[in-house]
Amino acid sequence: MQGVIAPIHYPTSGPRRRFSFQASVEQVLLAASLFWLLVSNRQFIGAVLKDREWSDPSAWGFGLAIAVMLVALHYLLLALVANRYTLKPLLTVLFIATAFATHYMQQFGVFLDPSMLRNVVRTDVREASELFTWSLLPHLLFYAVVPVVLLWRLRIHNRAWHHAALVRVGTIALAGAAVVGALLTIFQPFSSLMRNQKELRYLITPANYLWSLTSVVAADTKGAAKPRKTIGQDAALGPAWATRTRPTVFVFVVGETARAANWGLSGYARQTTPRLAQLPVINFADVGSCGTNTETSLPCIFAPVGRRDYDEAEIRGSQGLLHVLAKAGIAVHWRDNQSGCKGVCDGLSNELVADTPPPGLCDKGRCFDEGLLVGLAERLKAAQGPQVLVLHMLGNHGPSYFRRYPPQFAKFQPACQKDDLRQCSRDEIVNAYDNAILYTDEVLARLVETLRAANADTAMLFVSDHGESLGENNLFLHGIPYAIAPKEQTQVPMVMWLSDGFREAAAIDLDCLKQRASRPAAHDHLFHTILGLMDVRTSLYAPDLDLAQACRSKR
Ligand SMILES: [Zn+2]
Repeated sequence: MQGVIAPIHYPTSGPRRRFSFQASVEQVLLAASLFWLLVSNRQFIGAVLKDREWSDPSAWGFGLAIAVMLVALHYLLLALVANRYTLKPLLTVLFIATAFATHYMQQFGVFLDPSMLRNVVRTDVREASELFTWSLLPHLLFYAVVPVVLLWRLRIHNRAWHHAALVRVGTIALAGAAVVGALLTIFQPFSSLMRNQKELRYLITPANYLWSLTSVVAADTKGAAKPRKTIGQDAALGPAWATRTRPTVFVFVVGETARAANWGLSGYARQTTPRLAQLPVINFADVGSCGTNTETSLPCIFAPVGRRDYDEAEIRGSQGLLHVLAKAGIAVHWRDNQSGCKGVCDGLSNELVADTPPPGLCDKGRCFDEGLLVGLAERLKAAQGPQVLVLHMLGNHGPSYFRRYPPQFAKFQPACQKDDLRQCSRDEIVNAYDNAILYTDEVLARLVETLRAANADTAMLFVSDHGESLGENNLFLHGIPYAIAPKEQTQVPMVMWLSDGFREAAAIDLDCLKQRASRPAAHDHLFHTILGLMDVRTSLYAPDLDLAQACRSKR
């Protein structure tokens, strides 16, 4: 074995390089693993040592065992794939990816679990550009550029293959033994910590994103191989539809990142929903989301199983509510102002607002949510029979809340005008966020007014996909694993409005529904509530999950 990384002396002839070092593949892997232990795993180490005292000697033993495990684990993973030729490209990619990962972990307190990685890989250029801020540069310089430059200055030993293989197998065995040995010495406290706080493992960097990315890719390849499972083959319109002569249009608005805590109608100290407050809407003040990010919540909202029996593979692999409605003979259409329908409108009529940008509402491929309402009056005029229209908002998509509303909605001041939230005070961030809610309120109110004016039986249901952290407990944005997610990320606003015609045709008692709205509800109710309101009969329908079920006279 070579000793430590040491300068070598060149003979006097030939090209001279003043600082050139040589090292073996194993030494470089060990150095990289140590580097990540010291600079990329501060949050993990901080979390596992949280309740321990410095004066307690067992805390030091525990910390040391954790450190040995982290280094040996990363060494082991790398040593299985790296060789003389792949070493530099591989580590270069990992240094850069790890620098990005630690930036977002430190900045926003995110956990790089599979659902977060799914969000990352599905992020489009517009979303990514809002997350790329100048504060990233010094971080990347220290965490990526410096190690990468040093790496490429190294000369890697050229050993005979049998010698190299022997060293590799030996060090892998040693690393494996170190992981097991360290684990055994702290097994009891470590395993109970990991059982109680499963999400902590997603702070181990870079193992966290490597694992999560692998599992997302594996799930997607497996899922892509087979078509979605069909559901609701027995769906049919209820008999009462035979007597309904007016067109019926139900508009389901899926909001983005609006949280209940800042929703005026739900008791927020600020009036952020002044327009809806003037309309006869029913506000559900206590609604739990299915997930803490769009990739989880959106498919879940349209699935029969919901959070209570959450099964991601099942939800992603099956058709959803819109397919069931379509099978019953309801015309379904999806209009999107965000990043698509995540599969829930597969094979059904859909369009993107940005594809035919309404004048004055769009900039660089992003449109204000008013764009969702363009063409609505014409659609209502032409409507025949039963229809369900889904409008997918951009809502309060962060971190650039200030880009989500036109200037006349910048009521709460001063509002953060930066993509980088760190450059703003908490008050400025909340002001920008609240202005975006104010704009959502305006869009929903205009929608209700348009529906009310239509010569059709109309209804509107708005729900947000998940909430948002605005600096509480030093957390920002969303996507914390559900089990430990704060209320700010899981409590969402939900509002319903029914036209008189719709209410009569569906035989709904409004006072009863208002009563129901004061009790807890969840995304889990949506699939069944919409089937009930549209009077679609199918064995998938669970009456106890229909929020309006008890408020409907027999039909
Ligand atoms: Zn979302």
